[in-house]
Amino acid sequence: MNEDNLSVERRRRVNRIKRYILVLVIILLITPTVISIYAMNRLSVINNTVDELQKKLDEVELTYLLKETAKDSLEDIQVQEPEEVLEEEPEIESEKDLPDDYRSVYLTFDDGPSVYTSQILDILDSYGVKATFFVTGAQKDAHPEWYKEIVERGHTIGMHSYTHVYSSVYADEDAFVDDIEQIHQYILDTTGINSSFYRFPGGSSNRVSSLSMDELCKLVHSRGYEYYDWNVSSQDASNPTPSSQTIVNNVLTGIGKHQQSIVLMHDSGDKYATVQALPSIIEGIQKKEKTVILPISMNTKPVWHVSADESED
Ligand SMILES: [Zn+2]
Repeated sequence: MNEDNLSVERRRRVNRIKRYILVLVIILLITPTVISIYAMNRLSVINNTVDELQKKLDEVELTYLLKETAKDSLEDIQVQEPEEVLEEEPEIESEKDLPDDYRSVYLTFDDGPSVYTSQILDILDSYGVKATFFVTGAQKDAHPEWYKEIVERGHTIGMHSYTHVYSSVYADEDAFVDDIEQIHQYILDTTGINSSFYRFPGGSSNRVSSLSMDELCKLVHSRGYEYYDWNVSSQDASNPTPSSQTIVNNVLTGIGKHQQSIVLMHDSGDKYATVQALPSIIEGIQKKEKTVILPISMNTKPVWHVSADESED
């Protein structure tokens, strides 16, 4: 009984141990498999995530590239802007810079200088405008500084005879030559300018000279000078003197008719209406499109009432 009991007990223990071993073997076999399956699942999920991230990265890169390209295009467009601004407002200081479709206006003042010349120079300065002064020798003793001021402030000085007395200037050809050489020499001595610009007293079409104006035009050219008449008159020398508003209207209407206008005005001591008219004249011209005010220079095409060419070969 005891032996039987012991035998049964041993067999049970052996069987229990066998079961333990079996369970252990099963656990040892299954666990790696489960771990492998789990790991493969995780790997697959990670792979999918990496793929998605790569796609997003590609999209971000593409967007960045597109933005950079667009920015470059914008920069190309912006670079052209300063050129457009330059085209709108060209800097024109002489005939050489003048586009074909521009009008040029030359403001000329005869019979000075006088007490009003300085005021006229102030007005011209305030608008940044250069003009031309055809002077006589009338103030040579009293006010040589008035001649100098015209030149020092950057304007063109021209000759308008020494005496402006018709009977003397046009007495005969010798008298005419003496007169023009006297004013030429006076301007040279006083201002240092070797002026070659001349305006006949009364213009080349004057009716006061008993001499042939054709011959005098030839004489002026033969001495190396050029004469300038006008194609727009302010009529400020009319008698009685017109109002400043009429002077403004005369000038602005006149320059509307010409591509190149040479405007006749006076800065003599009895022409205050001209001083009063000048700001409105300049403003009216500067408001016109593609119109510039220039001083007479060697490049200025002259306006002639009597043509010297017809009497020359
Ligand atoms: Zn005159």
